[in-house]
This record gives sequence, structure tokens and C-alpha cells, in this order.
Amino acid sequence: MACDLHVHSTASDGTVRPGRLAREARDVGLEAIALTDHDTTEGLKACAAGCRRHGLKFVPGIEISADPVLSADTAAPGTLHLLGLFVRAGHPRMHSIAERQTAARACRNAAIIERLQQLGVKTTLEQVLALARAEGTAAIGRPHIAAVLTEAGYTRSIQDAFTRYLGRGAAAYIRRDRMPAAEAIEAIHEAGGVALLAHPVQLGFADDAWVDHMVRKLTDLGLDGIETHHSDHTPTQCAAYEALAGRLGLLSSGGSDYHGSRKDVRLGAVRMPMAVLERLEAAARDGAKRGATGD
Ligand code: AMP
Ligand code: ZN
Ligand code: FE
Ligand code: FE
Repeated sequence: MACDLHVHSTASDGTVRPGRLAREARDVGLEAIALTDHDTTEGLKACAAGCRRHGLKFVPGIEISADPVLSADTAAPGTLHLLGLFVRAGHPRMHSIAERQTAARACRNAAIIERLQQLGVKTTLEQVLALARAEGTAAIGRPHIAAVLTEAGYTRSIQDAFTRYLGRGAAAYIRRDRMPAAEAIEAIHEAGGVALLAHPVQLGFADDAWVDHMVRKLTDLGLDGIETHHSDHTPTQCAAYEALAGRLGLLSSGGSDYHGSRKDVRLGAVRMPMAVLERLEAAARDGAKRGATGD
């Protein structure tokens, strides 16, 4: 039996409601899933209830977008996403993260729409918000704008929307105000979770020595582990990240990064042995004990 420790729902940019994920997970033979929506814990309660109904183990999580620039000499050209697993749903630190990230998203979404309109694309913020309302989304982002653009016929697909307008370097790309990694890691720990570097390949380094350097710096900030297995990683990369985790004494994790129909990856496409989940859970418990005794 196995688990998928990186899954999105409609609470962020997935297309499956959090309460429905457990059924899909059971149908593909998973024993446990972690819900890790972008910058929100809104879906955790419904997903936990679904998992209880279907006899699955549930791991409450979050995926926080952080600033890939750690310092002048430690900056990733790509994206830095931090996964928190075993965070307590409804913890005040999770709420404050969500609040801050929602404000940054709102600001960026409005700027993207403005840029699109300058480019002659007549998509409105109201259309994007209407889609988000219909889906029950707490974290509105570029995938929702991509969906509206595609629906209106401006782009052929979500991927096309990213390539032509929304991706880094594209015509309507806008940088978002990003949270310092140290703050994200600290918030995850305070909420009782373990902090993991998501999909290290997306840091965008051409050379593994830079990944090694970045992971060491993140470890100094309290990072607990690496998502060694991910749907964007080749088998060679999975092995390299496992070796890196081993060298630095870090935990490893893995998951599909399922987004429903918004991404071409199936639930359970990446699955980890239950022992991986058990090690992460034990680390979260130990962390909570340390927090409680103050050492
Ligand atoms: P945002 O949170 O608004 O920055 O949007 C980031 C999300 O957009 C990611 O988590 C992916 O799900 C999706 N995404 C990013 N780049 C691409 C791409 N090139 N093609 C399709 N989806 C993408
Ligand atoms: Zn996403
Ligand atoms: Fe991510
Ligand atoms: Fe993700």
C-alpha cells in the first residue's frame, strides 16, 4: 500500500473538490493522501471528512510559495515552494500565511488582468472571480486566469495560456510579492508540521551543485526534508535528490502534484511507501514535543 503526499483541490487550483478526493484516491488504490493546496488550509476539513468516510489516512498539508532569493549569493532562477505536512488545520499561523498570500495574489491577479487588457485581451477580473466563486476557491491564481482565457477562446489550453501570457517571461507575467522562506518554515513548524522543499527541479538550477547549496541554506533555516519523488522528476533526478537527502540527514517525501483535469498528471502517479509517511509523522510529533518543551 502507498500514499500520495502532494495533492491539490478546488480550495486552490485543482479541479476536484476536497471532499471528493478520498473517493478518487481509494479508487486508484491509495492508502493515504496529503492535501497540499497553495497558500491555504481551507480544504483540509472537508478532505479529512472524506478520508474518514472512505477509510483513508489523511495528512493535512499546505504548499507555500516562497521567495526563491534567500540572499545575494543564494537565489534560484525558478520557483521555491515549501510543503508543510501534518500542519494543524485552523492554526493561527496558517491563517496569517493565507491572509498575506491572498492579498499578494489579489494584487498580482489585478495587475495581470490590466496587462492583458493592454494587450487587447478583453478578459475581466470579475470573470476570474466568478470562476473562483463557482469552484469554491480560496487561493486564486494564474491557473484560474488561464482557464478563463481558454474558455473565452483567447488561448487553446491552460498550457498555451502560460506559454503566451502567464508564464515567467511571457507577455503578461507579473512577479508576486513573495514570502521569505524562513518565515514559511517557521510558520509550518509553529503549526506542528514538517517543512519540505517541494519539487527541487523547479528551482530551475542547471547544475546540481546549486541545488545542494540551496538545500544546505534552507536546512540552516530549519528545513526538515526534500520532496525527492515528484511527477516532474526523472528517475535519475529522484535518485539524486534521495542521495542529497541522505547526505544532509533530511527526510524524504513524494507525491504526484495532482491538480485534477487542470494538469496532465493522475492522482497516485507518484506514490510512496507508507513507511515514508510514518517517518514524516514521527518527525512532526518530535518537532511538536521540542516546541512544547522550548528546546
Ligand atoms: P500562481 O500560484 O498563480 O503563481 O500559479 C502557479 C500554478 O500555476 C502552479 O502551481 C501550477 O499549478 C500552475 N503552472 C505554473 N506554470 C505552469 C505552466 N507553464 N503550465 C501550466 N500550469 C502552470
Ligand atoms: Zn498548482
Ligand atoms: Fe508547487
Ligand atoms: Fe503543488
